[in-house]
Amino acid sequence: MRISFFGTGYVGLVTAACFAELGNNVLACDIDESKIARLKQGEIPIYEPGLQEIVKRNFKEGRLKFTTDAAEAAKFGEVIFVAVGTPSNGDGSPDMKYIYSAVDAIGENLTGDKKIIILKSTVPVGTSAKVRQRIADQLAARGEKADFEVVSNPEFLKEGDAIADFTHPDRIVVGAEKDWAKDKIAELYQPITKPGHPIFFMDNASAEMAKYAANTFLAARISLMNQLAHIAEELGADIEEVRKTLAADQRIGRHFLYSGVGYGGSCFPKDVQALAATARRAGIDAALVEAIEKTNMNQRQRFAKKIIANLDGAKGRKIAVWGLAFKPKTDDMRQAPAKEIIEALLAAGASVSAYDPMAAAEAKKIFGDKISYAPDMYAALEGADALVVITEWAQFREPDFNKMAELLKAKIVFDGRNIYEPARMKELGFRYFGVGRKT
Ligand code: NAD
Repeated sequence: MRISFFGTGYVGLVTAACFAELGNNVLACDIDESKIARLKQGEIPIYEPGLQEIVKRNFKEGRLKFTTDAAEAAKFGEVIFVAVGTPSNGDGSPDMKYIYSAVDAIGENLTGDKKIIILKSTVPVGTSAKVRQRIADQLAARGEKADFEVVSNPEFLKEGDAIADFTHPDRIVVGAEKDWAKDKIAELYQPITKPGHPIFFMDNASAEMAKYAANTFLAARISLMNQLAHIAEELGADIEEVRKTLAADQRIGRHFLYSGVGYGGSCFPKDVQALAATARRAGIDAALVEAIEKTNMNQRQRFAKKIIANLDGAKGRKIAVWGLAFKPKTDDMRQAPAKEIIEALLAAGASVSAYDPMAAAEAKKIFGDKISYAPDMYAALEGADALVVITEWAQFREPDFNKMAELLKAKIVFDGRNIYEPARMKELGFRYFGVGRKT
């Protein structure tokens, strides 16, 4: 199949490359000229495990091409994915300007051929209907006719596991009206659905809602665990003991039950706020949805306060930080908890020496030279008054504790992801602070 993509970010590039890997001919378009220039040189602008090989192979073999020419991309595909960003406006609603600029470019170039425009970006409920009308108006203004369909196909990939999520998705969600378009989408995803991964066809609004529902649900679990952790901490219970009992309950399940410094990234914060904003606009009292993000942001501040309080103030302290990215296996710093935590430490007069295996370059765009960037995890510890773990990269889980003890000026660890055991840390002579744990 001939497939076009608008947007070559985390979602667009991964999906475009994976569809090319399945044998399709893919043309991916982005307005970011430097990104496209790098991609044409075989350079991958983001870190995502396994992506580089797939992009390189398919580019070399001619199945994956890149362009900045929107008209060329609009004309190329029988199926056109829109995977541009939908960042948050100040009021929580998503900024739709990238969506509509891509949609307008597609509409301007529609001819008589049947086309499917797939909205893969996370967009508010009702967007597909608006896009359908917008393109119909464009055609009417030109006095032309074209058979097209707007399909909602939200993306559920997780950064860090994006390739596996494409090939082995829990589900594929498709909102569409026209049968010929549903058949074509079924054909497009057939290599993935054939081994048994389910595809759900539904109306566009339900498909759009499915994405917000999933992210809100997952974010709610994290915020609820964090609130339980706060209560546990105050009352002398240990949230890790409590978590095990919850995980064993089949009605609850074991995923997304970890307390820590909260969630971040380009999706949960933005999507939860967007759903809350949609509900507000519809006059719905969605108090539970509103509380999720508030709890999440409080969690970051509480953790920073805990550090400062237990160091008897941060003025003049050197604090080592392990992990900056919003989660392991990505270089993505969007809405990373590290931002607020580090800013609070700096505001309290501390200096910060940070290490992240992948996100240092992205972090520099945020912190500049306000913090220092260590070349490896142990170098960050030299002469520090404490270690703060913010992102649970695998290599931080079993460090050389003796080396840590030697390098740190004070053997104090603030573990924002509960990756260490308090009893073991005590045995090793560390003062240890987790989240919701007995210390
Ligand atoms: P991103 O910011 O990494 O990439 C978006 C890309 O779109 C950028 O490269 C930008 O230059 C490009 N772009 C903007 N306007 C364009 C236009 N008119 N034509 C062509 N390119 C254009 O964003 P992302 O993280 O890939 O997210 C994309 C969408 O997918 C968002 O709606 C997001 O909520 C959703 N989503 C993201 C993830 C994730 O893990 N990142 C997961 C599921 C869904």
